[in-house]
Amino acid sequence: MTEPLLSVQHLKKWFPVRKGFFQRTVGHVKAVDDVSFDVAPRETLAVVGESGCGKTTLVKTILRLYEPDDGRMLFDGRDLAAASGSELRALRRDMQIVFQDPGASMNPRMTVRSIIEEGLVIHGVGTKRERQDRVVELLQKVGLDPAFRNRYPHQFSGGQRQRISIARALALSPRLLVLDEPISALDVSIQSQIVNLLNDLKQDLGLTYLFISHDLAMVEYLSDRVVVMYLGEIVESAPAAELYAKPLHPYTHSLLASAPRMDPDRRRAKLVLKDDVPSPINPPSGCRFHPRCPIAMDVCRTDKPQLIQIGDRLVRCHAVEQGIDTGAAIEKTTYHEHATPHEVHTG
Ligand code: SF4
Repeated sequence: MTEPLLSVQHLKKWFPVRKGFFQRTVGHVKAVDDVSFDVAPRETLAVVGESGCGKTTLVKTILRLYEPDDGRMLFDGRDLAAASGSELRALRRDMQIVFQDPGASMNPRMTVRSIIEEGLVIHGVGTKRERQDRVVELLQKVGLDPAFRNRYPHQFSGGQRQRISIARALALSPRLLVLDEPISALDVSIQSQIVNLLNDLKQDLGLTYLFISHDLAMVEYLSDRVVVMYLGEIVESAPAAELYAKPLHPYTHSLLASAPRMDPDRRRAKLVLKDDVPSPINPPSGCRFHPRCPIAMDVCRTDKPQLIQIGDRLVRCHAVEQGIDTGAAIEKTTYHEHATPHEVHTG
């Protein structure tokens, strides 16, 4: 079996909630709560969930922008949490991030050349001439004319700026790219171009992607496997083809139902969720999804479901554990047809 490039094991990141004059800790925001997954070399793993599900905290903890409270993160077998100073800098060369809003992540006073070159300068890579050649090569790779390298970010469209930020992320020849909602801020007409570019780069450069998104439809054509998170926990994880063909967890059903689909034959029944995502400070008892689940049972309100393995998949749901066909059970509920619509929040 191939060794994972990134292995996240029982990762936990809780933020204390403090109150009063003495700032006593009165609770915790359980942003990432016992999360485990592996990403194999050259694989694209998508982590999907609504705003507030913990995916951004997960990325920041893996990149060591937050210190983990518990668990391990191994990159190519090296412990990220234990790395310090020069070791961490070296590891960061191999792990780069592409942000959701390319404009906000670029200094407007820097030219495109300086933006792409910055990482090479910081890490002391190459001579000035070699760095300039690398900038030209990277701009060509992401489909931009190198003649524009002395322009500023505001002189480019949103899609072009995302291409620049991908070129910047590739400058140090990383092995893992963390793609944090890389297309959700772009026009729909541009999104597929960036997805195609990411696919091509993955093939050409043998890259591994950790793709973070609020939208399951967005990651369908790029991901090999999908992890679905809800209130800090993994609720389902599966090979992409299996998950899209037959979601098991009711939350995955709701994410798929809320995603627009191009193919009318594959449209799904509209499942509308009640209420917003509850507060992660005091998550609901039992199954954290039970207040919104259309097929919740009594046991769901009291007993926390464990992640169970079914073939290549993991799922956290009492109904699945009892052999209930969740798709058919959801279809039978009237609530997706007659409840007051309350759209799934994204962002
Ligand atoms: Fe719904 Fe119960 Fe499954 Fe939670 S455990 S998703 S409440 S059926």
